[in-house]
Amino acid sequence: MQKISQNVYAETNFNGCNPGFVVTAGGVVMIDTPQVPSDAVKWRETIAKFGTVRYIINNEPHGDHVSGNYFFKGTVIAHEGTRRAILSYSAADAKERYKKTSPADYALMKSFKYRAPAITFTGEITIHLGDHTIRIMHLPGHTPFQLAVFIPEEKVLFTADNVLYKVPMYFQHAEPFAWIESLKKLAELDAEVIVPGHGEICTPAYLPEMIARVQEWIDAVEVLVKKGMTLAEVEKNFTFRDRIPPQTGREAMAPMVLKANITRLYEVLKNR
Ligand SMILES: [Zn+2]
Repeated sequence: MQKISQNVYAETNFNGCNPGFVVTAGGVVMIDTPQVPSDAVKWRETIAKFGTVRYIINNEPHGDHVSGNYFFKGTVIAHEGTRRAILSYSAADAKERYKKTSPADYALMKSFKYRAPAITFTGEITIHLGDHTIRIMHLPGHTPFQLAVFIPEEKVLFTADNVLYKVPMYFQHAEPFAWIESLKKLAELDAEVIVPGHGEICTPAYLPEMIARVQEWIDAVEVLVKKGMTLAEVEKNFTFRDRIPPQTGREAMAPMVLKANITRLYEVLKNR
C-alpha cells in the first residue's frame, strides 16, 4: 500500500484494479474494491485500522473494480449504468472461475453476491464528510459509465481505467471520442497525483500521453475503415500495435484484447 497524500492511500500491486481510500474525520471513503477475494479480505483488514467504511465508490462497471464490494460494509455509489451492469453479472460464474483456479479464494466466496450500488446518479455529486470534499464526476471514456473522484483537500484524483499508466489499452466498451474529452477535463482539475485504474501512481503530466494513446488507436482503425473495409478486413490488415506490451502473466489475453479493441473502434467509426 502507498500513502498518496496526507489522508489518501492506494494499492497498485493487487491482481485487478488499483483500489484506494480516503480517511476523513467522518469515516473512510473507498474508491473501487479488490477483485481477488483474498486481496479484498487483506484490504478490509488494512482499512479497518483507519476507521469505518462509510461509502464505496465504483468508478466503473468492470468486474476488477466492483467484485470486491461484497467484502465490505458501506454504501455503494456509482453511475446508474454501473448499477445496471452489476445487476447483470452472475455470482455463480464468478464462483465457478475461482473454484477451478484458486480454492483459497473460492473458500471466501460461500455466500458471494455482486453488491450493486444503493446510490446512483448521472452528472456529478459531492460527498461532504468530516473535513473532506469528495467530488464524483461522470466522465465517459473507457466505459460509458466511467467516474472520476477528486479530493481537492488532498489534490488526489482517482480515474479508474480512463487513465492506464503504461499498461495496455482496453477499448471493448469505450466511447473513444468522449474519452479524449474526459481526459482534457481531468487535466483542468487542480490535482497533483493521479491514481490510475492500472499501472503505477502518476501525475497529470501523463495526461497528454494518455490522450495521444487513445488517439493513435482511433487513427489506426479509422484509416482502414475509410478504405471501406469490413470488420474482418480491418482485423486482417491492422498492423498497429500498442506501444506497450501486455503485462507479465496477461500475454495469453493479448489477442483477445486486440480483437475486442478493434471491434469496438470499428463499430464506433463505421457509424460516425
Ligand atoms: Zn475497465
